[in-house]
Amino acid sequence: MAFDRKPWAEPYRIKVVEPLKTTTREHRLAAIRQAGWNTFLLHSDDVYIDLLTDSGTNAMSDGQWSRMMVGDEAYAGSRSFYRLEEVCRKYYGYKYIMPTHQGRGAENLLSKCMIRPGQYVAGNMYFTTTRQHQELAGGTFVDVIIDEANNSFSDYPFKGNIDIEKYERLIGEKGAENIAYITVGAPVNMAGGQPVSMENMRAVSELSHRHGIKVVLDATRNIENAYFIQQREPGYAERSIEEINREFCSYSDAATVSAKKDLYVNIGGLVMCNDGELYDQLRSLVVVYEGMPTYGGLAGRDMEAMAEGLIEAVQDDMIASRVRQVEYFGNLLHEAGIPIVTPIGGHGVFLDAKRFYDHLPQDQFPAQKLAGDLYVESGVRGMERGIVSAGRNKETGDHYYPELELVRLTVPRRVYTQAHFDVAAYYIIEMYKNRHNARGLRMVYEPQFLRFFQARFEEL
Ligand SMILES: *Cc1c(COP(=O)(O)O)cnc(C)c1O
Repeated sequence: MAFDRKPWAEPYRIKVVEPLKTTTREHRLAAIRQAGWNTFLLHSDDVYIDLLTDSGTNAMSDGQWSRMMVGDEAYAGSRSFYRLEEVCRKYYGYKYIMPTHQGRGAENLLSKCMIRPGQYVAGNMYFTTTRQHQELAGGTFVDVIIDEANNSFSDYPFKGNIDIEKYERLIGEKGAENIAYITVGAPVNMAGGQPVSMENMRAVSELSHRHGIKVVLDATRNIENAYFIQQREPGYAERSIEEINREFCSYSDAATVSAKKDLYVNIGGLVMCNDGELYDQLRSLVVVYEGMPTYGGLAGRDMEAMAEGLIEAVQDDMIASRVRQVEYFGNLLHEAGIPIVTPIGGHGVFLDAKRFYDHLPQDQFPAQKLAGDLYVESGVRGMERGIVSAGRNKETGDHYYPELELVRLTVPRRVYTQAHFDVAAYYIIEMYKNRHNARGLRMVYEPQFLRFFQARFEEL
């Protein structure tokens, strides 16, 4: 075999394995019907390759497992908290660090402390739980992402960027005092894992602070974002991931993190800030929802695993292999002509269901159906990121009709090999040949909040 580019390999070897189960097509068809065509409602025992999410599905290292044995389970003042605090200060740079049970725990606390009912919250495309907490706190989310984000085949390198003009217009229209803060997510999960440039982050920070508006980072996937900056942004090729990450954080006032992503753990979250007054408010609220500020709903061993995971996560070779595995999978599909979101994102490959099932109207849930069909044909589990995830407009009650109607195939960190992605790509390419036989769905059960997790469907 000739190589057209220099190969790379994972900076680790495998010490423990978990056997996978295969099932028949007949079994899977019965299972998806039982699950109301919602891949979230499948039993994981019925799944072969699980690309539902990269959240909490990471493989931990031997270093992390060994730290778990020395976790300090004290109710108050745990040694493991102080270690986590030290590592987070070093790599993110914020002054105050508080653990939470997961990312949404952090979002809940921060939204409650920072939003007055009636205020607006700006952001670069919504994230499901983030927006939900902002709305529950009485805020109204306003999307100020650049237009390229909604174009699944634009090759713009930083499709997660904030549109500075849109943001400035919002400040002009609503008044700075009516904007609680701006959330910057990087990369933007819902746009297909698209990064934000350092230059854009600097501009957002400058404009916000000139108007006295706080900048809140959703730093859940910041290390993936740092990798894209290193690869794509002029002036950063020689800078380490560690330095880039810290610089990016330095433009914000506070951050929420789901540690279930970048930090290579199975559970955990963080809320961090520089402002002592905000920290005091967070500290008084955390005991209501999470626990003491020195454990925030986590065990001491979880905090040890997070600290060790963060140290591993900022190593240049570790993050490069993570993103390059996603790229490998995406390129198999792209080169076969399958419509996916490009450039390929940091955490998964997103099938464009509008172009894949171009015969199905959006209110027949093409992405929901494509995720279900992929499961039936291959045992590979992905999830919908389209009209179902977007939910309803709280005023009109109608569906939001998002531009992007996607199936997300997320890559858990350090879990699957290249061969698993060859198999997944093979089935997707086969399905694409027969795509026009697919029928749509109708929704038969709709929960009030975050409906994509539990909604049920039937085939038309
Ligand atoms: C996963 C995620 C969250 C929510 O975190 P949980 O740990 O699932 O509660 C928030 N923001 C982004 C960008 C995420 O990917």
